[in-house]
Amino acid sequence: MKQLKKTDVAIVGGGILGLAFALEAIRQQKKVTVFERNPRARGASVRNFGMIYPLGMRPGKIFERALRTRNLWLELGQSAKFWLNPCGSLLVARSKEEIVVLEEFVSSRKDIEGLRLLTPKEALKKSPGLVQEGLLGALLSESEICVDPQEAIQKISLWLENCGVNFKNSTTVTAVESDQLVANGERWYAKQMIICSGSDLQTLFPNELRNSGVVNCQLQMFRTKAQPCSWLLGPMLASGLSLLHYPAFTALKSYQRLKDRLTKEHPKLLELGIHVLVSQHGHGKITVGDSHEYGDSPAIFYQKEIEDLIRNYLSSFLTLPDAEVSERWLGNYVSHPSGEPWIYKPTDGVMLVNGIGGVGMTTGFGLAQEVLPEC
Ligand SMILES: Cc1cc2nc3c(=O)[nH]c(=O)nc-3n(C[C@H](O)[C@H](O)[C@H](O)COP(=O)(O)OP(=O)(O)OC[C@H]3O[C@@H](n4cnc5c(N)ncnc54)[C@H](O)[C@@H]3O)c2cc1C
Repeated sequence: MKQLKKTDVAIVGGGILGLAFALEAIRQQKKVTVFERNPRARGASVRNFGMIYPLGMRPGKIFERALRTRNLWLELGQSAKFWLNPCGSLLVARSKEEIVVLEEFVSSRKDIEGLRLLTPKEALKKSPGLVQEGLLGALLSESEICVDPQEAIQKISLWLENCGVNFKNSTTVTAVESDQLVANGERWYAKQMIICSGSDLQTLFPNELRNSGVVNCQLQMFRTKAQPCSWLLGPMLASGLSLLHYPAFTALKSYQRLKDRLTKEHPKLLELGIHVLVSQHGHGKITVGDSHEYGDSPAIFYQKEIEDLIRNYLSSFLTLPDAEVSERWLGNYVSHPSGEPWIYKPTDGVMLVNGIGGVGMTTGFGLAQEVLPEC
């Protein structure tokens, strides 16, 4: 074993959570080292829609966390110079039950600025690709931001490096023992270690992760070719099924009626955990997803059947000038049944942060701000 290397804060994982903690640690003037086993992050943080989506968060603490995260994205977009679109979001309603849920939501959430139920005509003005027939209205929210996840993660990493963060890429951390870790055979001393290893549940603290209740989830996504320059999606889109997916809506009185209807109408989609979100990045391509398969042993292959179900549901509310698919991929994240991230401190100075689920881009920066002062 070579000479002991030193850092104040060692972070395992160069995904959004690792970067969020690195950002917070350098704000606290700490010497930070990020260990990423790949040449650059390849996990959930570069496979997502790039939706910073406070609208869907449970009211209260998590919603507030999402708003703080959103503001940090806006700051970072300026300093790290990546493409960022504060385009907001539209949640499209095509049934009476969906409209009722949206009406109840608007009247109960006076805390959300710029929240408004649009008429079909107003919705079509914002989002010209919407299918007019059967459109009953849409919820406009102005808080949401879109980033291109691959570009954003890369530019934030570069910017953090310029701010003094030491990135050890292509470096796997294989052991964490009290105040030391082993990375590519080198031993490092750190006052604080933060393990943000995403869906790798086997390398570090496998027993603790197994006992924590966290669950792996695999999602299926695709992206179309670039749309003509003259055609813009407008706000990011969600639709009726997303009202069942996001915890923001579950406590509404009208929720159960909608759930009953969608369960009857779309049993297969619900069985496969499908709800359809749409975002467009600077290059003009449209990202569409997703499905949710929970468990340790998800499908190996991308499934055409799932893509067809997503495309079919998408075509009920959006028409694209060019719907030809250019890329398809699978992504994995880890969630905790509590709906909160799982934070565990096996010993003094070591903290595991995992289980953030489908909202790491939306809440990651705010979470790091809350948690790091406690270290
Ligand atoms: C398809 C999909 C769509 C999503 N859409 C959205 C969205 O639009 N908005 C949103 O808010 N959230 C979304 N999410 C969720 C979000 O992407 C995740 O919550 C978030 O990326 C998790 O970040 P992370 O840093 O914990 O994990 P990851 O991004 O997986 O990063 C973990 C990193 O740790 C590295 N690593 C693991 N073990 C080691 C080790 N021992 N040594 C060194 N390195 C290691 C891995 O290589 C990896 O790069 C989506 C997720 C998926 C999969």
